[in-house]
Amino acid sequence: MEPSAIVRQVQDAGVQLITFFYCDNGGIIRGKATHAARLAGRLNSGIGLTVAMQAMSDMDRLQLVEGMGPVGEVRLMPAPDTFTILPYAPQRALMLADLMTTARQPWAACPRDFLKRMLARAAAQGLTIQAAMEPEWYLARPAGDGFAPLDETLDNHSVGYTMAQDVIDDVVAALEAQGLRVEQYYPELGHGQQELSITHADALRAADNHIIYRETVRNVAWRHGLYASFAPKPFPDQAGSGNHIHFSAWDNDGRVNLFFDPDDAHNLSQLAYHFIGGIMEHIAGLVALTCPSMNSYRRLSPGSWSTAFACYGPDNREAALRIPSLFWGSEMASTNLEFRPSDSSANPYVALAGLIAAGLDGVERSLQPSPDQRIAVDPARLSPDELARRGIRRLPTSLPEAIHALETDATLTAAMGPALANSYLTIRRADWELFSQHDAAYEVRHHFYKY
Ligand code: GLU
Ligand code: MG
Repeated sequence: MEPSAIVRQVQDAGVQLITFFYCDNGGIIRGKATHAARLAGRLNSGIGLTVAMQAMSDMDRLQLVEGMGPVGEVRLMPAPDTFTILPYAPQRALMLADLMTTARQPWAACPRDFLKRMLARAAAQGLTIQAAMEPEWYLARPAGDGFAPLDETLDNHSVGYTMAQDVIDDVVAALEAQGLRVEQYYPELGHGQQELSITHADALRAADNHIIYRETVRNVAWRHGLYASFAPKPFPDQAGSGNHIHFSAWDNDGRVNLFFDPDDAHNLSQLAYHFIGGIMEHIAGLVALTCPSMNSYRRLSPGSWSTAFACYGPDNREAALRIPSLFWGSEMASTNLEFRPSDSSANPYVALAGLIAAGLDGVERSLQPSPDQRIAVDPARLSPDELARRGIRRLPTSLPEAIHALETDATLTAAMGPALANSYLTIRRADWELFSQHDAAYEVRHHFYKY
């Protein structure tokens, strides 16, 4: 959209404030707003932001990171095609921003730019990446000094539809009004847990959509007097909330799904197997990007469908990488891979970029996934000897394990670049240091309503 068209829309709709949002190293959505009268100028100049923000832990404790202290500014530069007037707050609009240097270059610590860089690398290989995130979340009410789930309903339960109906109808309308297409909805397993998925898009758009989605769900719930929690494990005795990532690689025209091969037993191309090979190779470090919070590791456990082992398999929901069965009549279009150890405490740009970096490494090195890691059972049912024989490793069981895997994965840290990798790892370590000194209740409380 042209800047002048955005300004006109803002004027016509009587919008007062337009927030330029970004997602930081802690997975937190932050932003600054401009008044409508100043928008035309801000679309060109951006809004200033201290470089220290990428060194801010997700409890707002500023960490020591080279080049990210009290001196220096970047600009929040909004991407015109992300402009949306907020259906739940009609005098507000949002735009998603890149972090740019004062020399008008992408800032090396910009998460959105990390994804753009990986998409450019994919494009150089003739690939465009399509992706969809599949978020799960809880509806809750305040109770005592914490929260209680909205209801006590079951998986796909008709009563769950009833209890959440008014909120969900408003969420669907608000998403559709912003151009996000709703695919499916159902009350998930946990009490008050919901799953509402939206249609896939180009990977950058898919990550942008996830930010708009989180904003929309939280705001609509809030207007119904409810809290929507995107924490990975907001209620320790209930199911965790994943944000599984579905993805596929298409040709540069976006016409042919290059993951599809009807002659293969699993309908996957050699390219798709190279992606699987790369992801299996880097999965331990990757999990630090897709399950980055302390609370993430309360979710990732055997027997909870959140996945706990580095393996893959057709329609295997306990495998880190599921090969989903295809839909009748749209076999090529529906071919994709589902990465399951991923949750909404992740920065969606970083999570997707990491996934693509790992997959492209598999392509560049022609990595083949081990057939022993392809399994048709719950890996938790295999004996330790059998797991070892097949080379199926446990995913990191704690945040420090994941941090260690990431800092020793030269492919992933090189893809991120030193500024992003250093600041990201510092923030993750800070979270570990803080939360490891406190109990589960403290951890849950401080993750509940942050994402
Ligand atoms: N809630 C599960 C998770 O944490 C996923 C359940 C499902 O398969 O949809 O990932
Ligand atoms: Mg689900």
